[in-house]
Amino acid sequence: MTITDTRAVSQPFQAEVSELLHLMVHSVYSETDIFLRELISNASDACDRLRYEAIANPSLIGDGEPPKIRIEPNKQANTLVVADSGIGMERQELIDNLGTIARSGTKAFVARLTEAKDGAGLIGQFGVGFYSAFMVAEKIVVISRRAGSGEVWTWSSSGGGGFEIAPASEGEAGRVARGTEIVLHLKPNAAKYLETYEIERIVGAYSDNIQFPILLMPEQGESRQINSASALWQRPKSELKGEDYTQAYKSITGAFDEPAMTLHYRAEGRYSYAVLLFAPSTKPFDLFEPARKGKVKLYVRRVFITDDADLLPAYLRFVRGVIDSEDLPLNISREMLQNNPQLAQIRKAVTSRVVSELETLGDKEPESFGKIWDAFGPVIKEGIYEDFERRDKLLALSRFSTTLGEKRSLKQYVADLKPNQTEIYFLVGDSIERLKSNPRLEAASARGIEVLLLTDAVDAFWTSARLEFEGKPLKSLSQGDLNLDLIPLIDEKAKDKSEPADEAKTIAVIKASLGDRVTDVRASTRLTTSASCLVAGSHGPDRELERLLSQQNRGSRTKPILEINLRHPLVAAIAKAGAEAKTADDLSLLLLEQAQILDGELPEDPAAFAARLNRLVLQGMA
Ligand code: ADP
Ligand code: MG
Repeated sequence: MTITDTRAVSQPFQAEVSELLHLMVHSVYSETDIFLRELISNASDACDRLRYEAIANPSLIGDGEPPKIRIEPNKQANTLVVADSGIGMERQELIDNLGTIARSGTKAFVARLTEAKDGAGLIGQFGVGFYSAFMVAEKIVVISRRAGSGEVWTWSSSGGGGFEIAPASEGEAGRVARGTEIVLHLKPNAAKYLETYEIERIVGAYSDNIQFPILLMPEQGESRQINSASALWQRPKSELKGEDYTQAYKSITGAFDEPAMTLHYRAEGRYSYAVLLFAPSTKPFDLFEPARKGKVKLYVRRVFITDDADLLPAYLRFVRGVIDSEDLPLNISREMLQNNPQLAQIRKAVTSRVVSELETLGDKEPESFGKIWDAFGPVIKEGIYEDFERRDKLLALSRFSTTLGEKRSLKQYVADLKPNQTEIYFLVGDSIERLKSNPRLEAASARGIEVLLLTDAVDAFWTSARLEFEGKPLKSLSQGDLNLDLIPLIDEKAKDKSEPADEAKTIAVIKASLGDRVTDVRASTRLTTSASCLVAGSHGPDRELERLLSQQNRGSRTKPILEINLRHPLVAAIAKAGAEAKTADDLSLLLLEQAQILDGELPEDPAAFAARLNRLVLQGMA
């Protein structure tokens, strides 16, 4: 190509990389061990990619040698080498991959960095890949030969503003027959990473499940393999202990927490495949990013194929792990995966299995399930409206905050129904505190009826579907008619026996005052102490859903129905004031505005509202 292609060039880092490197170079983060796990994970990815590309192009593994990873400490030179005979990088790949930030995890890390005071604390949470090596190295040289290529290039940097790209020297090129060699010139305080026992300890803790052999080349003596390099999911469950799974979870997923659920089985029959899946116990930072996909890795006969084959539906995108098929063709292209019927079968079967496993966990180990629910409940609930087929099961495993307690299941709700109660009641809003003081709860509270208090953004959506659980319809307390008359009051004696205001007359007065601000005014069956509330018609969306959609500019709001409590003195006063009086207008508007404020909204005209209130207060004092 051009002349610059064969010359050494210096290039600045992308600004975000500089920022990240600055943090790494000056890191006070004490768990520096993770750099080795990151480099080994990259080496393993490179071996995976070589094996995958070699399916179509076997000459890439010319020597037939399966890819390997090599770790070589050298005390004399104060260097630690991590090398792989994987896919390698061309010149441009070195520039792109090691000069910019591509992966979403690292991007999110940098974004957090600007907010967080304790940037170092975040390193452990995110991993941050290749650049973490600058925690232990003052200079890094990467020598790489793309599989099948005659060219070998070096990338080097001391972690300042930029890096240098140059053709490899003859000696360097000779050392790297295929793949990548990363030479870390260690910082004075990182000398411990030259000790073989340290290296073995870290590999044992983080990288034992890497599928490729990791060879340690001590300065004296024979090289030896220091990982078990087995595909753990292929081993029988009976041979494996809890800690084996935890280890596998960490090395397969790159996570730092403990799994809250482990699912390991082998499906035999029409199709055979091994499944090893985990549910994390903590929430990843990008759970709600639209681009986030499931991260289940597809293997075919132990060869890694891809990690974006959508092996599980979006509402299970927090599940991590491996599915290893015995019968898919090895040379299946990533594109072909899209509409492969066998894969669709596997997806269906595994999805059902994960859902029922979650259900079992909820019954048998509520504490572990609670962790999953706290972290991923809002995501699982997406499935209630997306996965029609498993709707009942997903409703069954959902947990809710209710007026009776935390983490209640619908099964518990139904078991505790009040006499004559035939519906499951809920309210959607943005905080539990606000919902608890919501006037729409009054009639239900007076009867001790349990109400689900739904405060996740997704709740406004799934509740808009017509749902029932064990034959009991779910019903919003802020929508449509409500009839609780047949359900006895907790305290019949406390029943308000005062004379209600005249319904027809009062409503006529209020309607005249409010005009088209509301679609209707009617006597409420919901209220016992408050004067008024707003509800939506029985058809059409819940008010909370409308509010959410209009905030996102997706749809306009319809006018609500104003419900009034005929036994409330304010309402009685309206009837008394009569249609002509200014006071009736003021009071009617106040009923509407009060209800809006209780919904967390502002009155349409706050100044007029204040003036009105002042007028009424002064009248009362006179
Ligand atoms: P990630 O591994 O999440 O993509 P890293 O920062 O660890 O992020 O690595 C950045 C990129 O550099 C990788 O995606 C890969 O393309 C490339 N890379 C790093 N190490 C190697 C290697 N040993 N062999 C081939 N490519 C590598
Ligand atoms: Mg990486």
